[in-house]
Parts: sequence; structure tokens; C-alpha cells
Amino acid sequence: MSSFWIDTFPNILNNYKSLDKNIDTDICIIGGGITGLSIAYSICKHGFKTTILDKEKLAMKASGHTTAKITSQHGLFYKYLADTFSPSFARDYFNANQDAITNIKNIIDENNIDCDFEFQDNYVYTTSEDDVNKIKDETNIVNSFNFNAEYLNTIPLNIPNMLAAIKFPNQAQFNPRKYLKGLCDFIINNNGEIYEDSKVYNIKRSGNKYITSTKNNTVTSKYLVLATHYPIKNFPGYYFLKMYSQTSNVIAIETEQNLCEGMYISSNSPTFSYRTAAYNKKRIALIGGFGHKTGAKIDLSNSYSFLEDEIKKIYPDAKVLYKWNTEDCISLDKIPYIGNFSNLLPNMYVATGFKKWGMTTSNVAANIITDKILEKENKYEYIFKSTRFKPIKNKSEFGNMIKETSHSLILNKFDLPAATLNDIKNDEGKIVTINKTKVGVYKDKNGKIFKVKPVCTHLGCELSWNNLDKTWDCPCHGSRFDYTGKSLYSPSVRNLEILN
Ligand SMILES: Cc1cc2nc3c(=O)[nH]c(=O)nc-3n(C[C@H](O)[C@H](O)[C@H](O)COP(=O)(O)OP(=O)(O)OC[C@H]3O[C@@H](n4cnc5c(N)ncnc54)[C@H](O)[C@@H]3O)c2cc1C
Repeated sequence: MSSFWIDTFPNILNNYKSLDKNIDTDICIIGGGITGLSIAYSICKHGFKTTILDKEKLAMKASGHTTAKITSQHGLFYKYLADTFSPSFARDYFNANQDAITNIKNIIDENNIDCDFEFQDNYVYTTSEDDVNKIKDETNIVNSFNFNAEYLNTIPLNIPNMLAAIKFPNQAQFNPRKYLKGLCDFIINNNGEIYEDSKVYNIKRSGNKYITSTKNNTVTSKYLVLATHYPIKNFPGYYFLKMYSQTSNVIAIETEQNLCEGMYISSNSPTFSYRTAAYNKKRIALIGGFGHKTGAKIDLSNSYSFLEDEIKKIYPDAKVLYKWNTEDCISLDKIPYIGNFSNLLPNMYVATGFKKWGMTTSNVAANIITDKILEKENKYEYIFKSTRFKPIKNKSEFGNMIKETSHSLILNKFDLPAATLNDIKNDEGKIVTINKTKVGVYKDKNGKIFKVKPVCTHLGCELSWNNLDKTWDCPCHGSRFDYTGKSLYSPSVRNLEILN
């Protein structure tokens, strides 16, 4: 599952040591992806002592597996925002993300970060008649914000049956891990501390401080930021009721032909996303899409071949260099949650639900949370207010989530699978019944058996077998575990119970 970014830039992040003593700090940030590191960068500038804890190595989860397009064009989104909220709300969301592009460029210039940053135009295109008018509407609404989006009938990338597109000029792309290395250097040079292999198991409030516990040590701080992707604390934030996870796949390809530049994404399903990147002094392309709700009980074995087939329609000689996937969190109203974790816990902040557009929105989050700590007003804060209850009004998504969760939590408890150990072939995983108990079994390629309790350690949902990555995935909130039971993705913090 290693991405092109991790494989080609593996040791950038200095191998920080794990937390080996109890410490006091001003701000403790849990999570060292682009969100945690952007917030740390921004707050360090104001002289606060900042401590980052990551459970593994930095930028190895979503931020190390992203496609890293830096754009305010989050699909066809602005007509939806204008209709659901208001035109001025849509405009402010747009401006927040456009500002983020400028901010990221300024950070790169000020710190001389060599991260392959390039301005590129971004296109959302369609091959479906149904979306042509949506693209026209989107162009009109975005241009009402004084922007210069273009409605097009042709685009530079040779997509078969392309009908219409909207172009956002001067968007950007970069190498996310090289960028994050630059942020880490700044943080360390500005009184910040970074600890890797320091998984947080518990957070408690004591007086006016937070005590954050790893296995053997604690960090005491006035301010606490949850930048763990899906929040690892359930109460009183209740994010597990207002967010779900989606996994998407990416392949990196090379071709003998000249690659078309620009960033592209389809408006219609299944999603097809495209960008170029620098690789060994040449250009390669990253193709993403074909996503699914994490933990869905579906056959995933064709996930990469779909992307390969699609890119071969454009570059028939495309050769796949890398394949990977990762997940992102999606809120029920599609707006990220940035700000107070809960009204009941002062000075505790969260930034999540980026809907696969976390390059710009993590920068927006860094500015909002920094301003909150500095007690300054932020003109975009109201859009992302994390304690809002509005999302629950999204009845269809909320209904789906409740159905999925109750099915996984309750109904599945009574339904014992008919399969037995003998039904499992080598390199296959299944939930089977052994002594009237459900057991998650994976037989590796040599027939060695791994047995786990197939119940998520986050909130007890029944896990699904992922036949692509050989993982146990939670359909409720997106926690993932490898076949030995090791916790890979939040919100779970504990490994699965191993059964003998
Ligand atoms: C396939 C795909 C493509 C994407 N492409 C784009 C794109 O082109 N442009 C864009 O803007 N966005 C894109 N995104 C979205 C973007 O990658 C994410 O929104 C962003 O990386 C999220 O960053 P993060 O820091 O919040 O999470 P992460 O990068 O996952 O970081 C969270 C960190 O928290 C740590 N952690 C978790 N639990 C604990 C714990 N208990 N204790 C300590 N640490 C913990 C993890 O180890 C991890 O390092 C894409 C997403 C996907 C799925």
C-alpha cells in the first residue's frame, strides 16, 4: 500500500524519537499529517511551545497517499453550496480555499521548500448529458464571485466522449511529503517538538489543562488539537454520528508519449482523477478514483484495473509503477468540521471531514485554529463551525449511516455465518463460525491462519473483509486493521483481539 510519495521520499521526516518522558507544553497536537503539521507551523510562529504526537511515522496516512492537488475546485460544489446555504456562503467557502492556495505558495517561498510546487489549471469535466447543465450553472455561480472560470467543450486531456468542462485557472500541485518536511524543519527551529511512534490512548481534562496519554507517558497542555483524521475521541463531540469514510485508489503510470499537463476530475461516477508529477527527471501521471465507502461488503479486486483500463484509453502504452489507496472523512453536509471539538471542552479543537480536498482545507484549518487560540476573529470560521448540528438534517446520508451502524452493531450479532474454516482458500479472508462464535479468519498464501475477533475496537461494529488490501475494515466509521489485527486507521486506537 506504499504510495509513490512515500516510496520516492521515504526518510524525509527525520525519524523523530517516541515520547519517553512526561512533558508540559502550550499546545499538544495529536496527528502528524498535513492538518497537524500545518496547524503546528501556523501556531509556532506566535511563540507557543507546540508538541506533536503521531502514532506512527509522520505523513504516512492520508497525507502520504493523497494526489495532492491544491485547488478550490472541490468537484461541482459551489452551486450546491449556494442552493443549500446561500450565495455568500458559497463565495466565502471559495475565497477561503483560494486564499489557501496563496498561503501555501507563500509558505513554500518564505521557507525555500523544494516540493515540486507547480501552478496548473484544474478541470472538472463530464461525459454524461445529465451534468452538462450543472457545469454551466457551476461556471455562472463561480464567476459571480469575480472569478474567471471557463465553460469549455474541449479540454487538453483526450478523455473519450467528453461533453463539457469547467476550468479553474492557476490552481496548483506539489509533492506533499516534501512540503511537510519543510513544515517540520520550521516547527523544530521554532521551539516545537515532534514525537513519532507515540500513539495516544487517552485524553482527560484536569483543572484547566488537558492530559494526553501515550502508553507510558503524558503531555500536559492548555490547548489540545485533534488532527487524527477521524477524531479518536467520541464524547462529547459525537463526530461518529456526523461523518463517514470513503476509500479511493490511485495508480502512478509512465508512458513513452508526452503527458498532458493540468489536473482533471470527472463530475460523474465512477470518479476519474488525473495529474502529472515529477519522477526521476521525467513526468508520470497519477490516476485516482473508483472509490467506495470504507468497509462496504464488496469485491474490491478490480479497483486498480479499472483505473488502468481508463488511462489506457488515453495512453495505450501506460505502464503502472505504483498502486495504493487511502481514505478520507466526509461530513453529512459535505463541509469540513474545523474549530471547537465541543462547546463543553474549552481550548480543544478539531479539523476533519475534508471530503478528499484536505490540501487547501488543512491550511484553512491552520488559520482558523490559530486565530481561535490567539482569540482573533476569523472571517471564514462560521462556514466550518464544527459544533453545528445542521448535518444531521441531511436525512438520507444520516439514515444510511444509522442503518449501516445498527446493522453492524445489532443485527449482525445474531446472524452466525454458515462458512467454516475449511471454506477459506489460501490468501482469502472471511468471517466464520467456530464454536458458535464469529471469528475473522485470514489464510495467507502458504495456508497460515490468522484469527481475530471481527469487531471494531472503536464502537463495536462488525468488520468487513477487504480482499484488495487484506485488511479488516469498519463500515461504520472507517477504522481499518491489518489481518494480524493491528490498528491502521483512526478512529480506533486499539488493535483487534487475537483469537486462538
Ligand atoms: C485517494 C485520495 C486522494 C486525495 N487527493 C487529494 C487531492 O488531490 N487534493 C486534496 O486537497 N485532497 C486530497 N485528498 C484528501 C487529503 O489527502 C486528506 O484530506 C488529508 O491528507 C487529510 O490529512 P490529515 O492530516 O487530516 O490526515 P492524515 O494524513 O491521515 O493524518 C492523521 C495522522 O494522525 C495520526 N494518528 C491517528 N490516530 C492517532 C493516535 N491515536 N495517536 C497519535 N496519532 C494518531 C496518524 O498516524 C496520521 O499521521 C485525497 C484523499 C484521498 C483518499
